[in-house]
Amino acid sequence: MNHKKRKHALLSASSAHRWLLCTPSARLEEQFPDTDSETAQEGTLAHELAEIRARNYVNPGDISKRKLNSAIKKLKENALWQDEMMVHTDAYLDYIKNTAIGLPSMPSFRIEHEVDFHSYVPEGFGTADLILIQGELLQVIDFKYGKGVPVSAEENPQMMLYALGAYEAYRMLYPIKQIKLSIVQPRIDNISEWECSLQELLAFGNYVKERAALAFEGKGDFCPGEKQCRFCRAKSQCRARAEENVRLAFSPDKGKLPPLITNEEAGRYLLQGEDVAKWLSDLEEYALKECLKGNEVPGWKAVEGRASRVWTDMDKAFETLEKAGIAEEAMLWEKKPLTLAQVEKIVGKKNFQDAVGEYVVKKPGKPTLVHEEDKREAITNKVTAEEVFKEED
Ligand code: SF4
Repeated sequence: MNHKKRKHALLSASSAHRWLLCTPSARLEEQFPDTDSETAQEGTLAHELAEIRARNYVNPGDISKRKLNSAIKKLKENALWQDEMMVHTDAYLDYIKNTAIGLPSMPSFRIEHEVDFHSYVPEGFGTADLILIQGELLQVIDFKYGKGVPVSAEENPQMMLYALGAYEAYRMLYPIKQIKLSIVQPRIDNISEWECSLQELLAFGNYVKERAALAFEGKGDFCPGEKQCRFCRAKSQCRARAEENVRLAFSPDKGKLPPLITNEEAGRYLLQGEDVAKWLSDLEEYALKECLKGNEVPGWKAVEGRASRVWTDMDKAFETLEKAGIAEEAMLWEKKPLTLAQVEKIVGKKNFQDAVGEYVVKKPGKPTLVHEEDKREAITNKVTAEEVFKEED
């Protein structure tokens, strides 16, 4: 199926994390164009590949090996195609296969399945990557091609909406009691799973009903925050976000306080100020566009950035320099090795490991500050009592 031609609901499942928190956002976003970034187009292509491969696994009679190969050949004509998409969709397929094998009997699959959740969200529908039903279990599996932030399945509203839609469609056919949500995000080795009972899912449905009714009307309070504003189409011009960030950046605590801030305050300021830098850069981008359109942004103007020199004909220039006695190989070209990741991309993960894996060591990365929910183990330079005794011995 061509994923680009899909319709989109006003209250889409993928933006539910935003309109559930900031109910007027969906109507405010309507006045801004919904443009696809190259990263999003790349994700769409990877999803088309994942879909056809999943169909071949689940229903080889319908999507034969020959059909699969010709579909992949067609996808490869896309300028955004990358061979690593095969490796990443392998991980998605492996997850589906292992899940199916781990169940007491073969589940029923629905691939790229349109789910209707309008009884919870006005005009609500969406397309789930994969729904699997076996006995009392309803599982929603989502393939994510992004490699920015790991996405968690825990209380993920997009997937809970798909689960609600699937439950409504199949409740008469299957004795569904348990819900499982899984996210497979292979580019950053993230597999996230979360389970809840049917009662918990339906309680979420009741909460959604109320919020969605407000969101559909464009009512409720604006609720700025890093998570919900990040991809909001109104993010550069939204007044609530602007006012909130100005408040966070420029309103100090009142009263007589000690001259130095505590670690508690440092932690709090960092959390509160997270969106300030992003908001300023969104605002700068917006103001530049306005200035270039010829509109006035008081106090600001667009100018030409620092100019850079480029060859008009590099071959001719090098030829001239060579004739003047400059040796081409030694002085005009720099020989640089590709990075380890670039070499791995060219030869493929498995071949890379087999051929040169023994020459690779993992050096510890530079200490980085992250949120405390991050899955990595915390590190410290503090010497422990155990280490002191070891040294003394
Ligand atoms: S930018 Fe943030 S506060 Fe403004 S509408 Fe969007 S989500 Fe709501």
